[in-house]
Amino acid sequence: EEMVTTIRKENLITVRGKDIPAPVTTFEDLKNEYGMSDRLLQNLATATYSKPTPIQMQAMPLLLQGRNVMASAPTGSGKTIAFLAPIINDLRKPSKVGFRAVVLAPTRELAAQIYRECVQLANQTALKIHFQAKSNNNNETSGNANKKYDILISTPNRVRFLLEQEPPALHLTEVEWLVIDEADRLMEEGINNFKDQVDVILAACTNKKKKLALFSATYTVPVAKWAIKNLPNLARVIVGHENS
Ligand code: ADP
Ligand code: MG
Repeated sequence: EEMVTTIRKENLITVRGKDIPAPVTTFEDLKNEYGMSDRLLQNLATATYSKPTPIQMQAMPLLLQGRNVMASAPTGSGKTIAFLAPIINDLRKPSKVGFRAVVLAPTRELAAQIYRECVQLANQTALKIHFQAKSNNNNETSGNANKKYDILISTPNRVRFLLEQEPPALHLTEVEWLVIDEADRLMEEGINNFKDQVDVILAACTNKKKKLALFSATYTVPVAKWAIKNLPNLARVIVGHENS
């Protein structure tokens, strides 16, 4: 309707895909319309985030609906919270089945930043979040020990290394959410071998309920083509001027 169009226009939000929900203008709307928990609303308030940024306005409702999403929005526009909050809300509480969400970032530093935001946002949910910084397989993610964790945050290189141990030092069969942050870099063919690493990880996430969230600062056609081909009922969100 007209309101929706106006809100998107004012916030430079472009959407592509079927049945894209209206953008929300307050975090309270996420509670009223999508059942986001009071705990998460409280944690957002504690972080002094008073209202959603444009990417959060549109991507959060989509992820709360459990959609596959490809999103691009400028650096510093709050993409991390846009994917973390819906996933934390969906996982709700710890379950001892193993990792149910994996977040990949290109560098250890970026992964560490996401980890810190995730720990804050998951405050008092009791969800267990693991930052995998080392490739050794003798640490606590090995074997059955990793069943105590709900969310894994790491780089593609580390995760692939653990998957390729004999026997595998990591199991991703219960993963319901895979986030690929800085997707323009991680999904790029050639140049580096990020895409090969991501492919190994994707293949290990065999859960039929798996959803993908691809986030980046720039919208790239190869990533869009890959996503359209591989992700059912994909929703795309683009925030900013430069994209079409
Ligand atoms: P991006 O990944 O898009 O580059 P980040 O997720 O790192 O950006 O967020 C940039 C900064 O904005 C962070 O310091 C984060 O804490 C802050 N931030 C995120 N969401 C909000 C919000 N709704 N209101 C105010 N600040 C926010
Ligand atoms: Mg980011």
